[in-house]
Amino acid sequence: MDLYADIIVDISLKQLDKTFQYRVPKDLVSLVSPGSLVNVPFGNGGRMIEGVVLSLSDVPKIDASKIKDIDSMKKGAVSAEEQMISLAAWISRNYGSTMIQALKTVMPVKKAVRKRGKAEDYEVEADASPLRGRCPEGADEVALNPAQNTAADKILSDYNNGERKTYLLHGVTGSGKTEVYMRLIEEMLKKGKETIVLIPEIALTYQTVNRFTARFKDEVLIMHSRLSAGERYEQFEDAREGRKKIMVGPRSALFTPFKNLGLIIIDEEHEQSYKSEQVPRYHARETAIERARLSNASVVLGSATPAVESYEKALTGEYTLLELPERVMERNLPECEIIDLRSELKRGNRSMIGKKLHESIQDRLDKKEQVMLFLNRRGMIGSVSCRACGHVIKCPHCDVPMTLHRNRMLTCHYCGHIESAKPLCPKCGSKYIGGFKAGTEKVEESVQKMFPNAKILRMDADTTKGKTGHETILKKFASHKADILIGTQMIVKGHDFPNVTLVGILAADLSLNENDYRGAERTFQLLTQAAGRAGRGDTPGAVIIQTYQPEHYAVTCAAAQDYKGFFEKEIAYRKLGSYPPASHLLLIMVTSQREAKADTGIGLIYEHITKLPSKCDFYGPMDANVKKIADTYRKIIYIKSKDYNHLVNIKDRAEDLVKDFPAFRDTLVYFDFDPMSGF
Ligand code: ADP
Ligand code: ZN
Ligand code: ZN
Repeated sequence: MDLYADIIVDISLKQLDKTFQYRVPKDLVSLVSPGSLVNVPFGNGGRMIEGVVLSLSDVPKIDASKIKDIDSMKKGAVSAEEQMISLAAWISRNYGSTMIQALKTVMPVKKAVRKRGKAEDYEVEADASPLRGRCPEGADEVALNPAQNTAADKILSDYNNGERKTYLLHGVTGSGKTEVYMRLIEEMLKKGKETIVLIPEIALTYQTVNRFTARFKDEVLIMHSRLSAGERYEQFEDAREGRKKIMVGPRSALFTPFKNLGLIIIDEEHEQSYKSEQVPRYHARETAIERARLSNASVVLGSATPAVESYEKALTGEYTLLELPERVMERNLPECEIIDLRSELKRGNRSMIGKKLHESIQDRLDKKEQVMLFLNRRGMIGSVSCRACGHVIKCPHCDVPMTLHRNRMLTCHYCGHIESAKPLCPKCGSKYIGGFKAGTEKVEESVQKMFPNAKILRMDADTTKGKTGHETILKKFASHKADILIGTQMIVKGHDFPNVTLVGILAADLSLNENDYRGAERTFQLLTQAAGRAGRGDTPGAVIIQTYQPEHYAVTCAAAQDYKGFFEKEIAYRKLGSYPPASHLLLIMVTSQREAKADTGIGLIYEHITKLPSKCDFYGPMDANVKKIADTYRKIIYIKSKDYNHLVNIKDRAEDLVKDFPAFRDTLVYFDFDPMSGF
């Protein structure tokens, strides 16, 4: 039987969806795979051009006698563009997507609209920040301390010796990781090499950006979600042409088409936002390592709280571990105190602010110092329930409770549905129906009542809408226009407020109770990062952690800033349950607006893949954690295996089934490898 290849012949990729079919000659069958670069005859003259193989099949789409043969495999040097095509093939194979989806991810196609000058606007805005006066030395090189030097020298001497590795730079908050990055970038510039710096989208505020632009000025490109497609394209052009040599941006900045890439840095490498939530569901860390391999570059992963996966790899030697164990300038890590909320309750204190935290806030206000109050938003949703029958008001389109807001409106955070709160329980008619306001609003209200003269700022999804929402609030707080900043996850990332001497964590353990094996890791990370916000200036800091589970290792290790202690407990738990990194996990999800279709689909896949000869464990089929979103039913299977390739194989076989079976019409099938969030 003949084998046919779908091939893109226009590598500039302006027409990604336009493919031509060619026959694979017998002698090339074992060599050609998706992503292969080949020479093919094109047009009537049979002129030889280059093409990229997208997919293979044994079915000719037109009269087989009219299909031409692939001439040969492309030989010789691989261009930057071809590297990106190889990267796309790797992504599609390892995470599950078509080649076209993967190509569109790595090579954003040019959009017609061009809006000029927006990136410059952003930098001007950054320059106007009140912090500019405070850290003019940001533009100069600081002299690195011995630990910083050791780390930077190791990476650079390896590089100069031709060794390309992945380094895990584990440094406590405020230990000077960013200064190490800048030293490395400086050296890359001297060699004429380019650097990609990934930072979590949430940290893309003026502070972080300011440090890079202050130091490297015109060499810096900044990518963020508010750029239009045209603006992004122009930035990529600057990179491609070598006009600028540093790209700072979120996950997708990884695909900046630099031709002389020397280094990829991933700051806060443990961050969840490095995993794409859209197909292809790639992880930026693994993908960066593959991109670096293709481009002969090094990779530096930095974090105060490395992902359990990364630290495990550092211990086994797959990554090279570098440590910055102390804060710079002999600043001490803050003193942490754990407060048991259960005993507060016994004492009759029902408020969200315990006695100790209350006194400490008052003390800081008296001293004109600043306070940050951090709320673990997950689980803090202000749901509405009936005290007579227990009924919880859920979204009519999704299987989740609605959230009550100040204006008596109920909203669904999954689909955006809004309705007004009803005075009576829809189930039993009781009037004892009530709820809690959304976390941060409620905290703001009660803190304002306790400290009527304090100026309070609140930072959450509601107050940061719009283009400069984050910046406005952070600038106000940085210039001491407020005494207390209340916020969610957002306030714990990358900000440096030297006048903050107290951080209060209101209910530390809410993310521990999630139905998700990463709950403890996430809690530990959030608490450690939040605690790290205190005492970054000359006055020492204090942290108060309020919790219902004061003995949990995620809480005690965070309070002690003891990463290794946490890691040891956590890896034991992962091994026991065969969770990543002890094992790999593949999620298969079938969704449909008709529940019966989703059930049939997931059942067929289960039957098919459990027959395959491989050593995997299967869980399901079952409802997803959130059974329905926006009127779409979600059914899942989890598969565990120590061997990632087994899971890739299962994904491929399931894809084959879905392609051929009419039962999958009106369904969507998703794959997620080592998923970051519970489904
Ligand atoms: P991290 O990225 O680990 O949180 P930073 O690089 O942001 O740490 O450093 C924390 C603060 O200390 C910053 O204000 C930075 O400018 C300063 N800093 C870092 N390294 C040094 C150094 N060697 N000497 C003086 N100040 C430093
Ligand atoms: Zn009721
Ligand atoms: Zn909804």
